[in-house]
Amino acid sequence: MDFSVVAGMFDRLESTSSRLEMADIMADYFSKAGPGELKSMVYLSQGRLGPEFATKEFGMADRLVLKAISFTSGDTDAATEALWFELGDPGAVAERLLGRKKQTTLFSEKLTLGRVIEVLTAIANAEGRDSQDKKMKLLANLLHNSDPVEARYICRIVAGRMRIGVASMTMLDALAIAFAEKSDRDEIERAFNVTSDLGLVAEALATGGLDAVREIKVGVGNPIKVMLAERLPSLGEILGRMGGRCALEYKYDGIRVQAHISPDGVKLYSRRLEDLTPNFPDIVESLRERCRHGTLIVEGECVAVDPETEAMLPFQNVTLRRRKHNMAEAVMKVPVRLFMFDLLYADGVDYTVKPFPERRAALADAFELGGDLGLTHLEVVSSEGEADAFFDGALAKKCEGIMAKSLNDDSVYRAGSRGFLWIKYKRDYRSDLADTFDLVVVGAFHGRGKRAGLYGALLMAVYDEDTGRYGTVCKLGTGFDDAFLEALPGMLEGWETDSAPKHVDAEMKPDVWVEPAVVLEVAGAEMSVSPIHTAAMGVFREGSGVGIRFPRFTGRVRDDKAPEDATTVAELVAMYRMQLDPAAE
Ligand code: ATP
Repeated sequence: MDFSVVAGMFDRLESTSSRLEMADIMADYFSKAGPGELKSMVYLSQGRLGPEFATKEFGMADRLVLKAISFTSGDTDAATEALWFELGDPGAVAERLLGRKKQTTLFSEKLTLGRVIEVLTAIANAEGRDSQDKKMKLLANLLHNSDPVEARYICRIVAGRMRIGVASMTMLDALAIAFAEKSDRDEIERAFNVTSDLGLVAEALATGGLDAVREIKVGVGNPIKVMLAERLPSLGEILGRMGGRCALEYKYDGIRVQAHISPDGVKLYSRRLEDLTPNFPDIVESLRERCRHGTLIVEGECVAVDPETEAMLPFQNVTLRRRKHNMAEAVMKVPVRLFMFDLLYADGVDYTVKPFPERRAALADAFELGGDLGLTHLEVVSSEGEADAFFDGALAKKCEGIMAKSLNDDSVYRAGSRGFLWIKYKRDYRSDLADTFDLVVVGAFHGRGKRAGLYGALLMAVYDEDTGRYGTVCKLGTGFDDAFLEALPGMLEGWETDSAPKHVDAEMKPDVWVEPAVVLEVAGAEMSVSPIHTAAMGVFREGSGVGIRFPRFTGRVRDDKAPEDATTVAELVAMYRMQLDPAAE
């Protein structure tokens, strides 16, 4: 397939923000591609060469991409850089400069998708002392043969700025349209949720249809999308919803990890599928040494503990393990414990389809426990009094609350979904404060006075799972300390844009727009219907959304969450209803 076809698809996708239209466009192209090509198209649409959890970064900063552009176009580095300042995107620079050049040269040969993949792979794999130069020349070689639109996307891909806004859910819609019936969408999504690999699902669908998709099973090496909890405002309601009896566990305040153990080794994934293996070498070693199975997938929360007293420490401590360098020192300084709460797979058996009591029993037998490996503290309760006492115990141990888990026959592990089989109940609910929100930065306001030269406030949004769009809920300017304000420009670097990002709906206009990427935890006094905010637009009043009043940054950057994992519109609506009438839920 010519790469110009793929670039043409990207171009069409970029010009629409309708999820339905995007799915139709992709379905059209997907149905005409061969299986191998389809896989590459799926990955490239999200700016990668493979699934999210297993692809190498290209390792090309904007300036290195610009160098390759100058090298190809014959412009000076200074001229290319000046244009980059004007346009803000290396893809646009390449399109402009190479467009001009292409009118005068006729030596290039047509690029195929295969060739682009081959060179991009070489760029990602280039290592060693002269790797930067190698990457630059490989890219220049590719640009030499690309037309302006192809160049735009190639440069964006290597610079990590693809951002044509194709969410995984839209891709699944497209696959269903191209290769199955609309009613098969759930089965296709299931295969994605248990493998986190869109390319794999696409290839199976294109070659073996729905039967092949049904054959896709949980397995070691493919992280499973995590199951999440709903919230309810009181322990009484939680018990009621669970049928009068449930398991309660401490809700530990750490980093969630999914451990994949096999004879080849142990890998740890974060809830957003990052590889955390290098950050917890001690836990990796314990899991490997003390596992009683050949292959196993378990989940747990990694929590920092006081080296002297073994008491659990607040979340900020375990984040010290997220550093890249000098891990040996961090391991010494920040000892951690893994509190395991679920078992999803063991020696060829898929446990995600089994009820929770069966999974928990298997988990209890899966390791020689002790030291840094333990199970979450659990108790089965059937009265509000018991639940209350358990909750108090959790707080005394410095946990952030408790998790209630269904013990019923249908209490399977629902990969990738939030439901009432797990219900969380936190300290904050009891003190009448609303739960915290995980909000996405979509804009920034320049600071004044003491904050001059920095950003002083942020425009924050929630995510709408149905439309794939972001709606604003507040302007956030409280809770920032000096260190955070200093770090903020770096955090947002590369995400700022001149106009509103494609998937953001906003009435309020910030000084600088920001692509959805950074998630911050925010506490608020209350929610209210608001004409200037766009989240849950029209749900409670025509022409108005729901806003968060007196928002305050809690100090917690949720870098374990992708923007799609932020608080959703559905959650916001449920929380607002809970606030209006706590007894009604
Ligand atoms: P929060 O922001 O409250 O952590 P969340 O959106 O990240 O919430 P929830 O589904 O609300 O996720 O809560 C589940 C999270 O709580 C898990 O992702 C996990 O990290 C953590 N956790 C701590 N203890 C437990 C436990 N015993 N069982 C399951 N999850 C637990």
